Amino acid sequence: MILNDYPWLSQPYQQLASGIINKRSHHALLINYVQGSGENKFISKLANRLLCQCSQQLEPCLSCHSCQLFLAHHHPDYSVITNGQDKQSIGIDQIRNIASRVYEKSQQGGNKVIWIKHAALMTEAAANALLKTLEEPPQNTYFILSDEHNSQLLPTIHSRCFSYFLTLPKLEQSIEWLKKQHYQQYSDNELASALLLSENAPLKATALLAPEKWQQRKEFCDHLLEVVPQNNYWQLAKTFNYEDVIERIIWFCALLSDALKAKQKVGRFIVNRDQVPLIRLLATKSNEKLSALYDLWLQARNQLLTVTGLNKELIVYNVLAQSELISETKN
Ligand SMILES: [Zn+2]
Repeated sequence: MILNDYPWLSQPYQQLASGIINKRSHHALLINYVQGSGENKFISKLANRLLCQCSQQLEPCLSCHSCQLFLAHHHPDYSVITNGQDKQSIGIDQIRNIASRVYEKSQQGGNKVIWIKHAALMTEAAANALLKTLEEPPQNTYFILSDEHNSQLLPTIHSRCFSYFLTLPKLEQSIEWLKKQHYQQYSDNELASALLLSENAPLKATALLAPEKWQQRKEFCDHLLEVVPQNNYWQLAKTFNYEDVIERIIWFCALLSDALKAKQKVGRFIVNRDQVPLIRLLATKSNEKLSALYDLWLQARNQLLTVTGLNKELIVYNVLAQSELISETKN
């Protein structure tokens, strides 16, 4: 089965699927996840199980008419709602469109399933329209709402749902899993670093471990080893790829935070486990300087995330110049 690829999802799946078998499933399920933990396949399989009309087991049968329609992406009683391309929100029309149909009989005679992906992107009007439907749940209809664990969903919607946090594997389990996915060329410390930089979400880590991306991180760290002792941050500019500027900033913040941990002798919490020499080098700076650098870079990240139309290059130059000033001062 599909989830065999993601062994950490098997227990959560069993838990929710046994609710379906015992007809104890809540009509509105809210799944919170860390992006890259296999959330889409997980939810898709749950939807498949809810729509299957044959299976008495945890797994959908995959052969009944309903399963076949689902697998062919043609199930008339299954809808996925999400923000459209280039759209930052899920609008009221999308919800109204569904709400008008859920009170009708299902076309295949089984359950109806509506998956609202990135549910926190619903506008307030859309959320209120959904709320009405959730308050008067139509028969045999299941809503699955999903979003990242730190997203801001309206509390009124939240209170109408059964919340479920999709578990992440333990670090060691993720490392073993990555090794089985052809990442054997990386050391355990590298795999751990990629995972910890990715909130331990295995699929997110694979993006960072893509050879080109991993090489970019390595070059960035190697450059830091050169520029930090000379206090020549300006030289870092050439390692900035302005498409991924926020990522570079996050890498540096994680290194600074590791240096602070090293100074406080809590090295076991270090994220960049493959960059110990660099962390030691950064840890020769005072706590004040490290904190000031961290604040400066974090502020730049927040600016870039929240203000649109900023000149990324200018922001980076400013941050690099200020980093040199901070490092020059006494203490
Ligand atoms: Zn089936």
